[in-house]
Amino acid sequence: MAVNYKSVPMREQLPDIRRKNFDEVPLGYSEEEAVEEAQRCLQCPKAPCISGCPVNINIKGFIKHIQNREFKEAVNVIYESDTLPCVTGRVCPQEDQCQAKCVVGVKGEAVSIGRLERYVADRDLEQRANDTKSIEINENLKAAVIGSGPAGIACAADLAKAGIKVTVFEGFHKLGGVLVYGIPEFRLPKRIVETEIETLKKLGVEFIKDTLIGRALTIDNLFEKGYKGIFIASGAGLPKFMGIPGENANGVYSANEYLTRVNLMKAYKFPEYETPVLKGKSIAVIGGGNVAMDAARTAIRLGSEKVYLIYRRTEAEMPARLEEVHHAKEEGLIFKMLTNPVSYSVDDKSFVKKIECISMELGEPDSSGRRRPVPVNGSNFEIDIDVAIVAVGTTPNPLIAKTTPDLKIGKYGEIPVDENNMTNKPGVFAGGDIVTGAATVITAMGAGRNAAASMIRYFSDIEQ
Ligand code: FAD
Ligand code: SF4
Ligand code: SF4
Repeated sequence: MAVNYKSVPMREQLPDIRRKNFDEVPLGYSEEEAVEEAQRCLQCPKAPCISGCPVNINIKGFIKHIQNREFKEAVNVIYESDTLPCVTGRVCPQEDQCQAKCVVGVKGEAVSIGRLERYVADRDLEQRANDTKSIEINENLKAAVIGSGPAGIACAADLAKAGIKVTVFEGFHKLGGVLVYGIPEFRLPKRIVETEIETLKKLGVEFIKDTLIGRALTIDNLFEKGYKGIFIASGAGLPKFMGIPGENANGVYSANEYLTRVNLMKAYKFPEYETPVLKGKSIAVIGGGNVAMDAARTAIRLGSEKVYLIYRRTEAEMPARLEEVHHAKEEGLIFKMLTNPVSYSVDDKSFVKKIECISMELGEPDSSGRRRPVPVNGSNFEIDIDVAIVAVGTTPNPLIAKTTPDLKIGKYGEIPVDENNMTNKPGVFAGGDIVTGAATVITAMGAGRNAAASMIRYFSDIEQ
């Protein structure tokens, strides 16, 4: 069989149109396109793609079903390992994971595993929500899940399917974690996460919003209320700053605050809704990851004339997904690579007006294996800006750690767990970004499922 090295392209909104709206950029495959792309899969005996997926989805198996137009069977194969394929099919760093191991990718373009996953999952989303029925629940077996991001959702789903009464506590007024307040609508439409949450409600999962565990209730209070197992999935949403002069000026946001304001206060429906952030004519975004890219592309859509991406290494070292970098360039983002901010200056009302930067060059590799950026003496220059967005990383949310004295905490504020996602405190499990630090949706989702399986075993042990 002749190998087809060229993948079927996915239609997308044109750059000039999409930079003025928040609608999703890639439009998805049609049935014919999906089947044509699936035909490129060689059904390799050893299927190395599977080991590239953090939850080892049977990729070869689900693609075989697409080749045969058995779409329901295809998505069912995915559900065995992945609770949220509509999400992972869109946002997984496929090019570094499953697709990086695809045999076809050695000589040409890898099979578009993520796009195929998205296709069958989208086809099934509404149907699955309609088909889901509540199952008999053992009211004596109560579990609490803290946080409604992908780790919490995945854990709650598996616990509920096992007949356990699950309550999810969420600090925000919106459910979905970073999937809702971080990743913008143009990459992940909110209706997808809302439908997943509706499916969980049909399974009997209870959601309590606006409730911060550690403030409203502690972990020990939850045990007193009769919860026998607790899963902490509170994420890593505490922003880091650079600690440079002027960083506390008006108009300097963390990416977390900026994106949360836009996403949760519906600025993505601008002008229908007021913008709850300074829009800015000239914006500097600092960082090189997905978060920086999301903030920059959001600023473009809110009408900023110039949006600069300031990153201290080169484009080759940027951790952002290739697709996001490609899209951002098409939308007019101005890349300032090998550049590091030194300070901000402000006007007489303490609003930021300039960012001073220094040029960098790459030196010897550092502990991450990437070449260390070194400042070039005397190369300082300024850029006029009226908003800056700092996207240089986040650390685990600290509230639960502070209010649970007997819970072991790591040196970065993370919660250490064993291979069962169990913490040092009996009955308390943890997973997702609160354990690993900022990572990916699929690893958080996998951790949630592993924790659910462990909690189910734990319940059967304590019941005997
Ligand atoms: P979260 O999604 O952070 O959810 C934690 C939830 O817990 C939140 O809803 C929070 O409000 C709640 N919470 C926190 N503390 C408490 C408390 N004390 N009581 C009650 N509730 C609490 N990953 C990818 O794979 N691909 C991408 O393209 C990608 N892009 C990203 C873009 C942005 C802007 C960001 C911020 C992250 C991105 N990520 C991406 C990372 C990914 O979203 C996270 O790794 C993932 O969401 C972690 O899931 P989680 O369930 O552990 O935590
Ligand atoms: Fe690939 Fe992510 Fe799907 Fe796994 S979950 S097969 S890594 S797209
Ligand atoms: Fe198909 Fe690529 Fe996996 Fe081989 S490695 S089974 S071609 S997806």
